[in-house]
Amino acid sequence: MAEPELVDVVVVGLGVGGEEVAGRLAEAGLSVVGVERDLVGGECPYWGCIPSKIMIRAANALAEARRVDGLAGTVQVQSDWAPVAKRIREEATDTWDDTVAVRRLTDRGARFVRGSGRLDGPGRVRVGDQVFQARHGIVLGTGTRPSVPPIEGLADSPYWTNHQAIEVEQLPESLLVLGGGAIGLELSQAFTRFGVRVTVVEALDRVLAIEEPEASEVAAAALRADGVEIHTGVRTERVEHDGSRFTLRGPGAAEFTADRLLVVTGRRAHLDELGLDTIGVDATQRYLPVDDRLQVTDGIWAVGDVTGEGAFTHIAMYQAAIVIADVLAHARKSDAGADPSGTASVVGGAMGAASSLGASGSSGSAGSVPRADYRALPRVTFTDPEIGAVGLTEQQARKRGINVQVGFTKLGSSTRGWIHRVGDEGFIKLIADADQGVLIGATSVGPAGGEVLSALVVAVHAAVPLSQLRHMIYAYPTFHRAIEDALRNLS
Ligand SMILES: Cc1cc2nc3c(=O)[nH]c(=O)nc-3n(C[C@H](O)[C@H](O)[C@H](O)COP(=O)(O)OP(=O)(O)OC[C@H]3O[C@@H](n4cnc5c(N)ncnc54)[C@H](O)[C@@H]3O)c2cc1C
Repeated sequence: MAEPELVDVVVVGLGVGGEEVAGRLAEAGLSVVGVERDLVGGECPYWGCIPSKIMIRAANALAEARRVDGLAGTVQVQSDWAPVAKRIREEATDTWDDTVAVRRLTDRGARFVRGSGRLDGPGRVRVGDQVFQARHGIVLGTGTRPSVPPIEGLADSPYWTNHQAIEVEQLPESLLVLGGGAIGLELSQAFTRFGVRVTVVEALDRVLAIEEPEASEVAAAALRADGVEIHTGVRTERVEHDGSRFTLRGPGAAEFTADRLLVVTGRRAHLDELGLDTIGVDATQRYLPVDDRLQVTDGIWAVGDVTGEGAFTHIAMYQAAIVIADVLAHARKSDAGADPSGTASVVGGAMGAASSLGASGSSGSAGSVPRADYRALPRVTFTDPEIGAVGLTEQQARKRGINVQVGFTKLGSSTRGWIHRVGDEGFIKLIADADQGVLIGATSVGPAGGEVLSALVVAVHAAVPLSQLRHMIYAYPTFHRAIEDALRNLS
């Protein structure tokens, strides 16, 4: 067995969360080994946020051009997927090559090891034949992979996940999308705007089921208006592939056929691969449970999707800042113990970075590390119209027994919505805690729903009193001015 190599920190999985943690800790002066088995940067830059938003930007340009009719004359629109595929391949992903990302990481001072990392007892990580002993901690940022439901015939068929959908160079004529969540809807709308005949099949009784029902309705109506067929409440029982076409069979006579099948039915962490049993952590859980400093257990932190706190890049980055501050606080404490004079080199560098991250307090003790708080977690589904949401939905708030007030207004009834005319579908829905006099949730749907959301995120995050929200000035005629109307309608 290889002799373990002593380092300060090992980060396993270098998606957005892991890469940020590894880079910042290395910049702070710790010896950091970052382990990645696929591409440094993870899902977001190569198969997620960035390429999907490149597709959506292009698809929305087509849709906006088609809206010229009735507003400003006539336009003939001819779509072409080639520039979209080229931009994703050449500009966004370097043809799915992470040379630049690896250099970005090593330039920050981290050491990079390509391979699968696995815990190998307390403080130890094994990557093939190499074993690292981490002095200050191990950070797991191993993310999630598509969760594929156990439907008869599916596993053996050449279905697409988000990877094939993002890498596609030649669009199929028709596409079945299994799953009507955010990713399914975003990709469905983008593809349909480029002429693909898209059919969405969703088992639940509405698309975008985690958001407000009104948001589901607007999203479904918008996609249908684009030509997407949407079938909800259909539990697929069987998938067939005859060599060229897919058929999904549901209960009774339900049957849908297309050239390609995209499976976007959620994502799951693969904890069984991480050697958690060697440190006494149950690997059969859905996600890695963490405390509010992202600690799984003493000396082990987790960051990003693997924690199950929300599968968003902004969550991974938010958590990364907390992990970095906490690891540095621990490193300082343990170095101070080992070197009572306080002159160990890591301490100075580490504390410099901790304070720059907002780990306030001059002591640098674990007590000064910010705690994770997800009350004001924003989420945006980048359909057209965009669906932004923060905090609790009405149903979630009522289930918690909160004395709920709801304020609702349609965007079309605002001045800006009226001016906008085509494509002005949307609304603002506010959820207030009447006893506390603050917003605890909000949904903002519209042409700039994700941007309008920012004001509502501040309101929920900072618990701004409703009285103050009512007496501030909203610029005229903006979309966000509809927030004022929704506040007026709170009851
Ligand atoms: C199509 C799509 C669109 C999305 N759009 C958005 C969006 O608009 N906005 C947003 O906020 N989020 C979006 N997301 C979600 C976002 O991509 C994720 O939340 C984000 O990538 C999570 O980062 P992470 O660091 O937790 O994990 P990941 O990005 O999943 O990275 C984990 C890394 O760990 C590696 N790994 C796993 N196990 C090991 C191991 N044992 N050893 C070594 N390496 C390992 C993997 O190879 C991977 O590179 C989207 C996702 C998809 C699929």
